[in-house]
Amino acid sequence: MKNTPTIAIIGGGFCGMMTAVHLMKMRLPFHIVIINSGYPFGQGVAYSAHTEKYLLNVRAVNMSAFDEEPQHFLDWLHTQHNYRHIARNILANVYVPRKVYGSYLNAVWQYATTHKRAETVVQIINGKATDIQQQQQEYTITLDNSASLAASFVILATGNTAPRELHTAGKDLPLCMEYFGNPWCADCVANAHQLRNILIAGNGLTMIDTLQGLRENHFTGTVYTISPNGFSLLPHKYNLLVYDKLVEALPATPTLKEVFSLVHQHAKALEKVGIGAHLVIDSLRPHTQQLWQAFSLEEKRKFLKRLSHKWTIFRHRLPLHIFEEVQQLRITQKMITLTGRLTNVQASNEKLQVTFFNNTSKTEEHLIVDRIINCTGPEANICRSANELLRNLSAKGIIKPDPLQLGIAADPQTGAVINLHGETNPGIFTIGGNLKGVLWESTAIPDLRVQARRLAQHLAHITHLVEQTEEPAVPFGKNSIHGSQAAMAVTIL
Ligand SMILES: Cc1cc2nc3c(=O)[nH]c(=O)nc-3n(C[C@H](O)[C@H](O)[C@H](O)COP(=O)(O)OP(=O)(O)OC[C@H]3O[C@@H](n4cnc5c(N)ncnc54)[C@H](O)[C@@H]3O)c2cc1C
Repeated sequence: MKNTPTIAIIGGGFCGMMTAVHLMKMRLPFHIVIINSGYPFGQGVAYSAHTEKYLLNVRAVNMSAFDEEPQHFLDWLHTQHNYRHIARNILANVYVPRKVYGSYLNAVWQYATTHKRAETVVQIINGKATDIQQQQQEYTITLDNSASLAASFVILATGNTAPRELHTAGKDLPLCMEYFGNPWCADCVANAHQLRNILIAGNGLTMIDTLQGLRENHFTGTVYTISPNGFSLLPHKYNLLVYDKLVEALPATPTLKEVFSLVHQHAKALEKVGIGAHLVIDSLRPHTQQLWQAFSLEEKRKFLKRLSHKWTIFRHRLPLHIFEEVQQLRITQKMITLTGRLTNVQASNEKLQVTFFNNTSKTEEHLIVDRIINCTGPEANICRSANELLRNLSAKGIIKPDPLQLGIAADPQTGAVINLHGETNPGIFTIGGNLKGVLWESTAIPDLRVQARRLAQHLAHITHLVEQTEEPAVPFGKNSIHGSQAAMAVTIL
């Protein structure tokens, strides 16, 4: 082995951590530097949940961090105090708290670092990457404290960004104590017991988490939710049934129209016997990325405009017991779903006066609420992202949005980013939610764990199996981090 490449991973959530775990498992002499800020290392937004009330939306049986060891999470869970007495076939179908999954990821990391080869150096930097300079195949990453770090390869594992700010008539919502723009901070559900009305913008899984968090904090008032379609989430049902008829009927490279009409036909047949369309959508799951890539840009646009909201309803479902709790709140009018969009919000006397256009009645209506929480989902447009690094890289043309502006334009096989001129960069990769425009399904663990393993394998291939130049492109060690190191928390394993 002639070189010891430095691989800088920006973002230490599931994707960043698991890419590093796979690199360590290869027992090759890599220098891995993970730069993380914002959320706890390894857990990211999703698995550092502040309460046990926030559950996984995927059954335990599908949550292994390793696609090549599908029982890994279940095996670990079965050794844990609260779960060891539950029969394994039952446990497989449980939606455990995301916090518990965070502990699992910690255990995965501990194991990987203890068993890694001594020559694989792993360094965690607690800091925010803000920019990257590229000189030929070398990269210098700037951190927010002006320190810099050299690397031969960079992985953008930046994950979920905060939702886009809510605005009405082109203006952001008033900056006030009653508006919470980030639904993942514990503050947005705190001190809610004396409040009467809360408006949640968004009607998806984050809204459900927020509802659970508010109730845990003794909120007994009314929650209004608002979204353009007003669709309600469905429960997970018939988990043990597998439907394979649709996939059997799919032509080799179907058009969107063909897929849509087959889904419609099969869903109707199932609905007739009392089983919902979700089973049909689930059966497409292992093929979705492939189907998406084969669609034309026009078909993808059509899907986003006309079908994606329906797809989301069938794809992202609730554990049955949570669904039943939510239904109960709807029946007792403690939760009211509005279909429409905000047109004006004014703050006065610790209240927010909300005007919204009701898409059902086609009229403007008014509400007075004590709090608004933005649960509209992570910002996908990298040019508008709250993540300074993505904005900077995009402004310089090192990365560009995919044509649908759902993430970063990249090679679907490797995640290598594509620059403004359409050239694929062989040294900068992305993974996870940033690949949504390229792959569509690029959010949940069953997809991300495959990406992490494949990316690590690709890096091993290009750095170790292929002959390299005599001198390391970038020396690693103390000298590779310049600037105010004292201001950074650095862990070397
Ligand atoms: C609330 C929520 C619940 C979810 N629940 C589930 C579930 O139950 N099951 C499932 O399969 N999937 C779930 N998901 C999907 C989830 O996004 C993925 O499972 C996975 O956690 C994503 O990991 P990630 O590493 O891509 O991103 P993240 O977890 O977002 O981690 C990215 C990390 O990088 C940091 N970072 C970003 N930019 C920089 C920078 N410039 N410098 C330094 N650090 C940076 C961030 O602050 C963060 O710590 C959920 C997502 C959310 C938001």
